[in-house]
Amino acid sequence: MKKTIKTQNPYSGKTLETYKYISDKELDEKLALAQTTFEEWRHTELEERSALLLDVAELLETKKRTYADLMTAEMGKPITQSIAEIEKCALLARFYAKNAENFLADAIIETDAHESFISYDPLGIILAVMPWNYPFWQVFRFALPTLTAGNTAVLKHASNVTGCALVIQDIFEEAGYPKGCFQTLLVDHDQIETVIKDERIKAVSLTGSEKAGKSIAEQASAQLKKSLLELGGNNACLILGDADLDKYMDTIFKARMQNTGQSCIAAKRYIVVEEIYDEFMERLKSKLKKLKIGDPTNPETELSVLARPDLAEDLKKQVDKSIEIGAELISGNTMDGAYFEPTILTNVKPGMPAFDEETFGPVASIIKVKDEDEAYKMASTSKFGLGSMVFTKDFESARYRISDIEDGAFFINDMVKSDPRLPFGGTKISGYGRELSKEGILEFVNNKTVYIN
Ligand code: NDP
Repeated sequence: MKKTIKTQNPYSGKTLETYKYISDKELDEKLALAQTTFEEWRHTELEERSALLLDVAELLETKKRTYADLMTAEMGKPITQSIAEIEKCALLARFYAKNAENFLADAIIETDAHESFISYDPLGIILAVMPWNYPFWQVFRFALPTLTAGNTAVLKHASNVTGCALVIQDIFEEAGYPKGCFQTLLVDHDQIETVIKDERIKAVSLTGSEKAGKSIAEQASAQLKKSLLELGGNNACLILGDADLDKYMDTIFKARMQNTGQSCIAAKRYIVVEEIYDEFMERLKSKLKKLKIGDPTNPETELSVLARPDLAEDLKKQVDKSIEIGAELISGNTMDGAYFEPTILTNVKPGMPAFDEETFGPVASIIKVKDEDEAYKMASTSKFGLGSMVFTKDFESARYRISDIEDGAFFINDMVKSDPRLPFGGTKISGYGRELSKEGILEFVNNKTVYIN
């Protein structure tokens, strides 16, 4: 086991901080605190828990610049996008403050009984294993509904964003949550196995790669514990012949390049009908030329480095391999440290990494198809199932396809995005379970049947 975690600024290459993993004894103490806190927290009034959400929102809004600076330093997100991420977390807190009471109210069901209903009870301590791409959002998306439902939570965050992980614990404490409601654990992969085995842990939520998901889900299922997995995506973005590119090209471009391409729901495969192909390519190249690339701390910057140099190396291998087997490089594909030049690849086909795998960076993979039918067929040729998007003026035809889409989301004339009001999650190897909305807050509860005769 490594004894320390070193965080590094991916833009400057400088070491930021060194942290020590906690010992097994410290881990046990933290779980004991989470358990004791749970026994009291579960009995607090929902009104009290909702009020704390408003305090979290206010704190996030007040200190958004400080939190955003830390996020940008640790994983290279352009600063305006870091600020927007913090604001979105605050919005989520306000959303659950307003709606949790309704979502968690007993659901009356008429039966032969005098009274029968479902009571949504908390489970206990929930473990979250979270990634670095949205270091605040991914954690808050899990924690806000989970705590509000009366659970306590422990977090194992991605090691490259350890500073964010510790600050998030501080946020909950500063907002007034009882100590032990939310704790960050600086633990390695082996210790996570111990945590999952611990009988005080009742369920696990993981956002990350397929590999991490498999490992955590296997460990959880061996203990007969529930897991929620939000894994990778390979979203298709269909550009049909009648797409309104004047209106939507900005959105279509953002769908791939936001967060420097490191988003599970990004448009990873542009599937373009031949009728509009040339026009689309011209617009795509022109947008790429205008992209402001550089220092993530500069408010003008739209795209910067990836979160770690090894991620750029992996992406380069995927692109090189795709080119080797027939994809055509239109622009990009150079790298320097954690920087990966935005790339356009055409002639992308099934069997190539740029089609089959998740490419986690600014790579636009273009697949030219003959017509709408072929476009939808190509879209569903994927083992991933997070979402699909289509740009078309023919709403009727797009609506008609809804039931054929196997993914967790289908967006017509917009990019796939997360919204506190709507459930979020995948099918196939993109995972299972739902976050956000009413569905999200009901993931880590005991749907208890109460029958009074
Ligand atoms: P990982 O999936 O490995 O990391 C995500 C989280 O899981 C981190 O907290 C990591 O911890 C933890 N983790 C990974 N394996 C284990 C394990 N066996 N036991 C306990 N915890 C574990 O992502 P990477 O950083 O390696 O990125 C690789 C690829 O994953 C990306 O290129 C992208 O394709 C995909 N990815 C997808 C994301 C999404 O939102 N869909 C988010 C992040 C990555 P630690 O940092 O300590 O290893």
